[in-house]
Amino acid sequence: MSNDTPIAAQNNPLLLCEGLPPFDQIEAEHVLPAITQLLTELEQDLQTLEAEVQPTWTGLVEPLEQLGDRLSWSWGIIGHLMGVKNSPELREAYEAGQPKVVEFINRLSQSRPIYEAYKQLQQSPDWSQLDPAQQRIVESAIRDAELSGVGLTGEAKERFNQIQLELANLSTQFSNHVLDATKAFNILLTNPKEVAGLPPSLLSLAAQAARSVGEKDSTPEHGPWLMTLDIPCFGPFMQHSQRRDLREKLYRAYISRASEGEFDNTDIIDRILELRKEEAKLLGFTTYAEASLASKMAPTVSAVETLQEQLRQASFDQATAELDTLKTFAQEQESEEDSDLKHWDVSFWAERQREAKFDITDEQLRPYFPLPQVLDGLFNLINRLFGVMVTAADGQAPVWQEDVRYFQVANEQGEPIAHFYLDPYSRPAEKRGGAWMDECLGRAKFHRGDTVKTRLPVAYLICNQTPPVDGKPSLMTFREVETLFHEFGHGLQHMLTQVDYAGAAGINNVEWDAVELPSQFMENWCYDRQTLMGMAKHYETGESLPEEYYQKLLAARTYMSGSAMLRQLHFGMVDMELHHNYEPGGSEQVKQVRDRIAKTTTVLPPLPEDSFLCSFGHIFAGGYSAGYYSYKWAEVLSADAFSAFEEAGLENDAAIRETGRRFRDTVLALGGSQHPMEVFKSFRGREPSTDALLRHSGLKPQIL
Ligand SMILES: [Zn+2]
Repeated sequence: MSNDTPIAAQNNPLLLCEGLPPFDQIEAEHVLPAITQLLTELEQDLQTLEAEVQPTWTGLVEPLEQLGDRLSWSWGIIGHLMGVKNSPELREAYEAGQPKVVEFINRLSQSRPIYEAYKQLQQSPDWSQLDPAQQRIVESAIRDAELSGVGLTGEAKERFNQIQLELANLSTQFSNHVLDATKAFNILLTNPKEVAGLPPSLLSLAAQAARSVGEKDSTPEHGPWLMTLDIPCFGPFMQHSQRRDLREKLYRAYISRASEGEFDNTDIIDRILELRKEEAKLLGFTTYAEASLASKMAPTVSAVETLQEQLRQASFDQATAELDTLKTFAQEQESEEDSDLKHWDVSFWAERQREAKFDITDEQLRPYFPLPQVLDGLFNLINRLFGVMVTAADGQAPVWQEDVRYFQVANEQGEPIAHFYLDPYSRPAEKRGGAWMDECLGRAKFHRGDTVKTRLPVAYLICNQTPPVDGKPSLMTFREVETLFHEFGHGLQHMLTQVDYAGAAGINNVEWDAVELPSQFMENWCYDRQTLMGMAKHYETGESLPEEYYQKLLAARTYMSGSAMLRQLHFGMVDMELHHNYEPGGSEQVKQVRDRIAKTTTVLPPLPEDSFLCSFGHIFAGGYSAGYYSYKWAEVLSADAFSAFEEAGLENDAAIRETGRRFRDTVLALGGSQHPMEVFKSFRGREPSTDALLRHSGLKPQIL
């Protein structure tokens, strides 16, 4: 491929396309020229490849990987900076570049000559020479191309494209309606009696919302306060408002969003389901659910249904008992709700009961979790489990902000195998909220003449916790500790991969419903006595976390877990039913489907006017269609993986070490090079079981 770039580009750090990103040199003004030039070159390279492609690994897959690598190097850095060092200039440049990048990616994934070459490779004598990882990469490429309609011709192709277009529009309309309907409702509270019970954070939010609609003198203390249906407002309001009438008002508005008038999503839902079914049929599937599962770990719809039914049977009675307990609790508080607990009372009393039983505040826990100690605890655990050593490598890589740390990961022989950046602190002005792991460089082997060079993986780990203030270290909440462990689990799969093909290294080519296995697996260790007590020491006194706090953390983990599980199952089962058995235009309406499933998946049946489906964006405007089950699917995997360590004995160092090495050599090392069921079986010696998840959730396994 062409290596000569015009002189002007020599100074553009975004066109280096190899090595660590030179964060000390990159400016927003580099973005557009780099992307424009890069895409021109890549387009030329793609055209050359399409004309000269050979149905071989080196004549097809390698050049494509190089092409993809250059784009993801540059565009990846830009996307990363959008998340951690945003600015109006960068955003403008990003928005100008993005459509061009999307257009190129679409063009690449829709390329017929590339698709044909993959198919030929699969039929060729060379096929048997490829190792299983290479074969899986090719098979996934063919599958993905076919799922995006590349295999279709003539009328079928035309119809497929029409459907895609209409579906994209309908999804946008769906989410716009939800947004608009959410925005259309609010109540302005002016009397302090109306905000009784609300926490200061919600009052601040509500005062700010009031100021944004013209109540310019609003303060958190004196109001007025604007209450909306946005989750950061609606959620805490339902948990804390002592005004039952207002909770009812907000609740009723919430469940009927986008179900009538100008923002009505009812017909859109039916049309989406109809088109998805038609699309699936064009691709050779009977239902949309089957098409969705073609690229997932779950083998069949019935496998998903069996899993959901097992969990449902195990959680239904418990959820019923939890509601009864809650009713009794409300009664004991001499509330008017007493025996007649309504939908808008559940969150409120659940929160009161939680406070009464084992309330423990973030502020009580924070002093025990200073970041440096938590990192030490995490790195010790990683060493204990996987034999790898994490050491500081600050100064060995340019960073985008002075608080960002750089670390090296070495194997048992002390050889570096990976690196990662850690950007721990919140910077609201320029950094997106939440936490995530992202790939900076992926592991890959490159042939340069006669030499083979292995590029080591580099990860970004991003959190959003309180920065150090007044000479105190950053003190973390327990949730932040869990989040750090979670993201580090994703990072481990990226960094400890042993796959040298970019297409299957780390998290690449891992099925979507299996990708949360290592991350959720790591969260389990936050509740492990040895791990937790090893790192949780008061930052001033060095005193260990009090046993009472530890017990409260354990109890909080399973609090009302039957209800929580049943709720997720309800969503997952409705989603599957609508995408598998439902007949658009048939005798049963979507709402009736939902109400039918609610009979066995809710303990407080939905109100007759509950139109929750009209705002179920996960499946009608997000990526979770016929995939909502994945939350539970991945939890089963991660809990079952952790239970291998419990069986080995959490205090038994030798056994933990051995089990840890096996986890490293399978789940963490194999990435997307094998089917996740094979990977799981290599680790666990059998297929996944729901027992561990049920036990961790405080539920009893049911015999079906
Ligand atoms: Zn995750």
